[in-house]
Amino acid sequence: MTDTANRHLDDLTPWNDRLHGLEVVGVVDEAPQVKTFTFRAAGDCWFRYKPGQFVTLELPVGDGEPLFRTYTLASSPSRPYSVAVTVKAQEGSIGTRWMFDHLRPGMTIRAYGPNGHFTHIGHEAGRYLFLSAGSGITPMMSMLRWMADLAPQTDVAFVTCARSPRDIVFRHELELLDRQMPNLSLSFMVKGNSLGESWFGHRGQISHPMLTMIVPDLMEREIFCCGPESFMTLVQDFLRAAGFDMAHYHQESFGEVPGDAPAEQVAVVTDAGEVGGASVPVVFANWGVTATCQPGQTVLEAARAAGVRIPAACESGICGTCKTRKIAGEVVMSHNGGILDEEVDEGYILACCSRPLGPLELEA
Ligand SMILES: Cc1cc2nc3c(=O)[nH]c(=O)nc-3n(C[C@H](O)[C@H](O)[C@H](O)COP(=O)(O)OP(=O)(O)OC[C@H]3O[C@@H](n4cnc5c(N)ncnc54)[C@H](O)[C@@H]3O)c2cc1C
Repeated sequence: MTDTANRHLDDLTPWNDRLHGLEVVGVVDEAPQVKTFTFRAAGDCWFRYKPGQFVTLELPVGDGEPLFRTYTLASSPSRPYSVAVTVKAQEGSIGTRWMFDHLRPGMTIRAYGPNGHFTHIGHEAGRYLFLSAGSGITPMMSMLRWMADLAPQTDVAFVTCARSPRDIVFRHELELLDRQMPNLSLSFMVKGNSLGESWFGHRGQISHPMLTMIVPDLMEREIFCCGPESFMTLVQDFLRAAGFDMAHYHQESFGEVPGDAPAEQVAVVTDAGEVGGASVPVVFANWGVTATCQPGQTVLEAARAAGVRIPAACESGICGTCKTRKIAGEVVMSHNGGILDEEVDEGYILACCSRPLGPLELEA
């Protein structure tokens, strides 16, 4: 294995969106049930990504098929030799729990990425609001770390909500950055107490009056929001009601897709037409397999039925892990932000949310 730790950047090649090996170099406890895993490249590469982007990890859980889980790179690309994910093990967790129990320094896992467009790059603004709840803080941390390294004068209102003071992830680093970044305004909001700790900060649930009190000029800020769906829906609702221009609102979903498509989530049809009622052949060129896609089936479902393994994590068009290029044929694709318009123009589709309109040939 190549040791990137002692190599000059000029000797390494940039990361791209292919499969890579990541070697664990550190595991740190951040908060109850929250750990940060830091990785260096197992190959000859440095990490090229945008602050706020994510990767999908292939977790060899048990003896069967691996699990795929998507995590934001909480690290900053301004430090390109390593990447870090900060993960919370929810109750009943399988994938994240496996990481907690098994992933140790020296071990290597496989990763797909980087992916995603929840980033301030391309949305340059005079003032930002980074609003998060729980593990939704990770993309905000990546963007803030980037700004701290490259533009520490940036005006950022950073508001993060947690169950209790001890559940605030990155609290000490944030307090340090607050002293280093003159225009950073840092606010924590908690619901409950932590045993043995007095709390003099904000308390309760986020609301428009509360947020306006903390960030009086919030209507003039570029807003980035990430947290549970209920949290983001609440924020969107009160911003809309207050007349906020939603073109300046961006959010990242970690889980289920809400009924209302939020900002940056669009349905795309690669070509006009209806999904037919007959089964159609789908060629997976790299595998040398021709599968049959039954009416209503997605390309991913057809692949699995034929024994073709396409890595997929969220399976709802968010994470982009199952992206593959179309060689021939058309599909109806209804995604939730996991693919860019330019990628669609180049012929890429997401297998999890694409249904063939007729015979199809794919690179996968
Ligand atoms: C773009 C993107 C970025 C993400 N970034 C991060 C990150 O930085 N840190 C992080 O911790 N997670 C992140 N996630 C969520 C992560 O991918 C997993 O969905 C989550 O960690 C649950 O996986 P698991 O293996 O722990 O639990 P699973 O074994 O998948 O599920 C166990 C239980 O948890 C519930 N569950 C599943 N997903 C969630 C969720 N998101 N929130 C609450 N309960 C859930 C399930 O309903 C089930 O009851 C991200 C997801 C996406 C799509």
